[in-house]
Amino acid sequence: MHHTQNNLIEIQDKIKSKIKKLQLFEYNPKIIAVSKTFQEQDILPLLKFEHCDFGENKVQEAINKWTELKKKYEKVKLHMLGKLQTNKVKFAVEIFDYIHSLDNLKLANKLANEISKKEKKIKIFIQINLEGEKQKSGIEPSELELFYKNCCQLKLNIIGTMCIPPESKDPSPYFKKLLELNQKIGLREISMGMTNDYLKALEYKSTFLRIGTGIFGKRTN
Ligand SMILES: *Cc1c(COP(=O)(O)O)cnc(C)c1O
Repeated sequence: MHHTQNNLIEIQDKIKSKIKKLQLFEYNPKIIAVSKTFQEQDILPLLKFEHCDFGENKVQEAINKWTELKKKYEKVKLHMLGKLQTNKVKFAVEIFDYIHSLDNLKLANKLANEISKKEKKIKIFIQINLEGEKQKSGIEPSELELFYKNCCQLKLNIIGTMCIPPESKDPSPYFKKLLELNQKIGLREISMGMTNDYLKALEYKSTFLRIGTGIFGKRTN
């Protein structure tokens, strides 16, 4: 068996037993295999294993890697996890099925435009900046309700919220805050939890776990 398949199975088992321990019933979070920087030969074993959800953080890299693969593996859903520049939106809506990084109104407008032009059905998460750090991407929690309303007026299919907690800190308070914000505006999906904290994210009902290193191994670039 390929190491990525082994890793995925181990992660699935850990998730199952954690959910059992938490006694959360009918809770079935999705695993996004974050394949950024990895090539086709690393991804193919998971595709043959019928894994469907994959994540990338750059539009051009995703196009190069996934255009042919998606034709061959039609069930694949591709998730955009990185910062999305407005001049890349045209290309992003061609290749991605989910966008996790909607973080400003200009981008929302551009997305609405391209999505209706191309008649796509793209599912979108609003990225939240839980720290209030100026250099970080994301909508401020206090501005979320209004921003969400604006997105609805644009007819964007907003399914949830997303966060990336600061690396060196305990993620629990951030996960808790995101869950509360999500419930406050009445959204179903939550995108949080990565290799180092995905089990913790289950305690706060994350529905999309974004796992790279844990499945593919260390990234070299
Ligand atoms: C790279 C990346 C991940 C995966 O990180 P790992 O620690 O390798 O699991 C998750 N989310 C985002 C937004 C990323 O850019």
